[in-house]
Amino acid sequence: MQDLLGLSPLDVARAVREIAAEPFRAAQIFKWIHERRAADFSEMTNLPKAMREALAKDFVIGLPKIALRTPAPDGTEKFLFELSDGARIEAVYIVESKKTPSWTDPETPGASRVTICLSSQAGCAVDCAFCVTGRMGAGRNLTAGEIVGQYLAIARAKSFGPHEANVVFMGMGEPLLNVANVVRALDLLEEEVSPKRTTVSTAGIVPGIETLAGRPRRPNLAVSLSAADDETRTKLMPINRTYPIAPLISALKRWPLERGRRITFEYVLIAGVNDRTADAVKLAALLRPLPSKVNLIPLNESKEWLPGLLRPADAVVNAFAKVVADGGVPVTVRWSKGLQADAACGQLKGREEPRRPAPQAR
Ligand code: SF4
Repeated sequence: MQDLLGLSPLDVARAVREIAAEPFRAAQIFKWIHERRAADFSEMTNLPKAMREALAKDFVIGLPKIALRTPAPDGTEKFLFELSDGARIEAVYIVESKKTPSWTDPETPGASRVTICLSSQAGCAVDCAFCVTGRMGAGRNLTAGEIVGQYLAIARAKSFGPHEANVVFMGMGEPLLNVANVVRALDLLEEEVSPKRTTVSTAGIVPGIETLAGRPRRPNLAVSLSAADDETRTKLMPINRTYPIAPLISALKRWPLERGRRITFEYVLIAGVNDRTADAVKLAALLRPLPSKVNLIPLNESKEWLPGLLRPADAVVNAFAKVVADGGVPVTVRWSKGLQADAACGQLKGREEPRRPAPQAR
């Protein structure tokens, strides 16, 4: 059985040509999968019944199975998916407050938004000290169909239509270590979500940034930084040994930004590690020359998964934000959403998984 999810419109037409020879039939099938979120050919009611039955014999629409849904009172809902080989991944449905800037469109606070946070790998080898997924270790790359399938399965479950949600690649995995499939998924998602409302978040994989930079239509870029000096960043994010801050910033200076857009830098604040005034001064000095903005994310604590790492007091977070803003860099504090839903990356799957020890960040 061939999976039609993850195929381009042209590849769908090629795959089904013996059953649905007319080009408009292939276009109908693609539309049913991507715009109308069909999970089964029997739902494609504008196709002849015999055609639907023939398609069902040779093809599947491989939406991931929902293994668990965990809603939080604020509207956020976390989905644990099981893939065809048994791998488990997470995605999150996030309802963003009208009062706060969006992850993807901070210039226009006030609009009502839903954001879908997608995984790109079933684990992660990058091993950031503040990340639950990092504790699980490496997992395989997801296919383009498995990436898009998370979005479509959530759209089906939550009943939202095309162009009604933003997308962020901030779930499990480093998207730019799976750049070929992420690029294919971005192409497919364009049917649903404009690149302006899509954000790819990376730990700073320079070759992947350069690949995305070369595309004609680019998503927004977010870079997980979490320290403005190499020594602290290497402790928090070992990938900094391969892609240190200076070459990373050089690559970002070459990123072709559209007028009025900025690169987002994520900074996970950890008490006593990277939350001092001096850290904030350094951060502002590093980013001021770039069209940038900072998302400050107070650590989502997990005694079980991230022992010894503490969230700073709210007053410390606010003071850090003020120093960065006074230093000339726009800043937003991301007070955690969906804590009750284990919404931090990897926490839902992590309930059931073996783990590797936490590195020493201090
Ligand atoms: S924060 Fe992202 S890149 Fe770092 S370990 Fe977690 S999933 Fe991987």
